Amino acid sequence: MKRYSAFALAREAFRNHQGWERAWRDAQPKKHYDAIIVGAGGHGLASAYYLGKNHGIRNVAIIEKGWLGGGNTGRNTTIIRSNYLQDPSAAIYEKSRSLYETLSQDLNYNIMYSPRGVMMLAQTEHEVRGYRRTAHANALQGVDTTFISPKKVKELVPIIELKGPRYPVLGALWQERAGTARHDAVAWGYARACSDMGMDVIQKCEVTGIQREGGRVTGVSTTKGDIGCNKLGIVVAGHSGHLAEMAGFRLPIESVALQALVSEPIKPCMDVVVMANTVHGYMSQSDKGEMVIGGGADGYNNYTQRGSFHHIEETVRALCETFPMISRLKMLRQWGGIVDMTGDRSPILSKTPVENVFINCGWGTGGFKAIPGSGWGFAELMAKGHSPLTEAFGLERFREGRFVDESVAAGVAH
Ligand SMILES: Cc1cc2nc3c(=O)[nH]c(=O)nc-3n(C[C@H](O)[C@H](O)[C@H](O)COP(=O)(O)OP(=O)(O)OC[C@H]3O[C@@H](n4cnc5c(N)ncnc54)[C@H](O)[C@@H]3O)c2cc1C
Repeated sequence: MKRYSAFALAREAFRNHQGWERAWRDAQPKKHYDAIIVGAGGHGLASAYYLGKNHGIRNVAIIEKGWLGGGNTGRNTTIIRSNYLQDPSAAIYEKSRSLYETLSQDLNYNIMYSPRGVMMLAQTEHEVRGYRRTAHANALQGVDTTFISPKKVKELVPIIELKGPRYPVLGALWQERAGTARHDAVAWGYARACSDMGMDVIQKCEVTGIQREGGRVTGVSTTKGDIGCNKLGIVVAGHSGHLAEMAGFRLPIESVALQALVSEPIKPCMDVVVMANTVHGYMSQSDKGEMVIGGGADGYNNYTQRGSFHHIEETVRALCETFPMISRLKMLRQWGGIVDMTGDRSPILSKTPVENVFINCGWGTGGFKAIPGSGWGFAELMAKGHSPLTEAFGLERFREGRFVDESVAAGVAH
């Protein structure tokens, strides 16, 4: 694969851009692989990439029923932060955030990581106490966050209204090195690097069954035929319950729609990400100038990839009271994704009751930020059978009542 560089850009400019190669091969399935990953979202692709890069396992297929990145990975609002409360969460999310910092160089693909800073507004005394507690916990975990005053909030976000009609802004949990990245580019960058290592990224190929013999996985049935494998990684977010059923076990997961919307583009007016969890909405400005807006998840299980209308109204109302100047903006687009929610709002990175089947799911409303760290840990789990990063996120925690409770950090926020 030819490297992308300033020199390559200049060379192609002189050749009318006729010399660019395909970013990844359009692969067809082989008969057998050392490992198959189901789901070419960010987590599946990152898992495959680190299997190859860190563990030398390169005879790998990543099988996707639609197009790569077409699930939640290409539908999220791209917030990256690591200010979670519990130690295992801080470890995996901070590993992820730090990998994001140099991911463009690592993949030789510009993922447009923008460490612009993320703030979570405290609008009740309860939230003030909660976020101060998180800031203290983060200090012990080596995650750089601070609790800032309303004056500092206004300095960082001049368009904010501090004395909202329902809730005043009393401060915020601020993570300066948090930010955003281009979500499709994360999927494309990993896919290109996987393909370059000789892996097969197989699109438009749905897994319809999981073949087992004596409690071990032997392969998968797909719409492009049967494919054998020694190890299987299930990384399909909102469809995890279906795949687990094919493998013969059940998951403590609920699938619900989560939606987002963007406005028409306007001049730059906000260069940080603001999350207002009490009134229930968050906003950032994309590089194109659109205001990127997200709200809460639907209150009932569904697979619609659309989201219910009352959430749009609630989210827009919350943001109009936080940023009155957006009240006259026109909304351009609205869409949804199917997110996979666990009871403790933490992911599942685990072995399963079927030998050599591993599952990576439960990232719910906030897994974009975790893609590199999750891939790193899950690849280690698949390759070696254990990983310090994934240890606390096993399936057995639900049986043993050993939850990693992140309902404050992840319940509404992303
Ligand atoms: C509106 C919205 C906003 C969000 N905002 C944020 C945010 O700001 N920050 C953040 O950190 N997170 C956010 N998230 C969450 C984040 O997008 C997800 O946690 C993350 O993208 C999950 O990635 P994934 O690779 O696990 O899943 P996906 O990207 O959904 O990939 C799973 C893939 O599996 C494929 N698949 C399913 N079944 C099969 C099958 N049978 N055979 C083959 N392939 C199959 C699907 O087609 C899909 O492409 C948001 C999510 C949504 C929906």
